[in-house]
Amino acid sequence: MSRLSVQERVPLAALTTLGVGGPARWLVEAADEASVIDAHAWARARGIALRILGGGSNVVVADRGVDALVVRLGLRGVQARPTRDGVEVTAAAGEPWDAFVAGTVEHEWAGLECLSGIPGLVGATPIQNVGAYGQEVSDTVIAVRALDTKRGEVATVPASECGFAYRDSAFKQDVPGRWVVLAVTYRLHPGAAPTLGYADVARHLAEQGVATPSLRDVRQAVLTIRRGKSMVLDQPDDPNRRSCGSFFLNPILEASAVATVLARAGDPAMPRWLQADGRVKLSAAWLIERAGFTRGVRRGPVGLSTKHTLAIVAHDDARAADVLAFARHIQDGVFARFGVPLTPEPVLWGAG
Ligand SMILES: Cc1cc2nc3c(=O)[nH]c(=O)nc-3n(C[C@H](O)[C@H](O)[C@H](O)COP(=O)(O)OP(=O)(O)OC[C@H]3O[C@@H](n4cnc5c(N)ncnc54)[C@H](O)[C@@H]3O)c2cc1C
Repeated sequence: MSRLSVQERVPLAALTTLGVGGPARWLVEAADEASVIDAHAWARARGIALRILGGGSNVVVADRGVDALVVRLGLRGVQARPTRDGVEVTAAAGEPWDAFVAGTVEHEWAGLECLSGIPGLVGATPIQNVGAYGQEVSDTVIAVRALDTKRGEVATVPASECGFAYRDSAFKQDVPGRWVVLAVTYRLHPGAAPTLGYADVARHLAEQGVATPSLRDVRQAVLTIRRGKSMVLDQPDDPNRRSCGSFFLNPILEASAVATVLARAGDPAMPRWLQADGRVKLSAAWLIERAGFTRGVRRGPVGLSTKHTLAIVAHDDARAADVLAFARHIQDGVFARFGVPLTPEPVLWGAG
């Protein structure tokens, strides 16, 4: 049994990118699988809920904190295995995501290059099927190794059972804390061409005069575009840096409902994308802007990013309650204007 060091009343704000919220009732750092299993046993013996914390870039912690044992994952290690049709790379849940992506690009393994610059750790990527610029991890994940706290056993979940969808998975849908992702295996493609499915990236590369982009070119293009939107957390002085990235999901509606939204918008150019299942995805950013919320708009200590309409930014003295009230204000405004409910992307911890 590993030696657990359970701390009490640990402030969580500094462990999240939004930087708001209260303490964890208990917190433990887990650097290996044995510690995760012991943490689960510790919580179970006391009837305490379990919450898993990675890089804290997609959680909003309530001001009163979270009445749970928060397990901060620090499992490290990357292993690659060549196969007939590519390379299978397994990364431990605590590996920093962007460093991992950079390593795959350096090895010229295609598959993750468009996901450059996303904050957080590997273990969180299957939770909301992380995606950006034309790739989602569900394109490459082949298996997730996870502790199933309900059954008390470590399982290898094949991608077919992960329930991946747009910013969603079976792990996210299940009871919070049921699954602790320990490692993720991605199938990547040595020497293959990069994905160029996103107009902004293609345009940026064309402007740079790059006709046949390498994986490295695409990674650099994505990082440059993301930096322009304050979507890379490597600028300590960036006034937009305290966020969860996009605060709302792009709504996906039945085609019949979209006609009503279009009529209310009065703009045939309203951005929309037909999905494989016949539904239509709308741009949350466009709806927010057209509902009258401009970039940089403030409400006390919170506001929209000056660079990205979808990011809610916490400024000095912001509390979780301010962030949540502002999010509600935007949801109400978009609903009143278009009749479209916006769903928050980050996970709320401890809110009622
Ligand atoms: C500036 C910025 C830009 C962003 N851009 C993008 C983007 O382009 N695309 C995108 O998809 N997301 C984006 N995000 C959101 C976020 O970075 C991702 O969702 C990321 O994968 C979260 O990782 P994390 O380690 O910080 O997770 P955390 O915030 O620590 O956790 C998020 C959720 O996942 C759960 N979780 C975390 N690790 C595990 C684990 N090992 N096992 C079980 N559950 C776990 C947590 O319990 C929580 O419910 C962005 C965020 C920011 C701040």
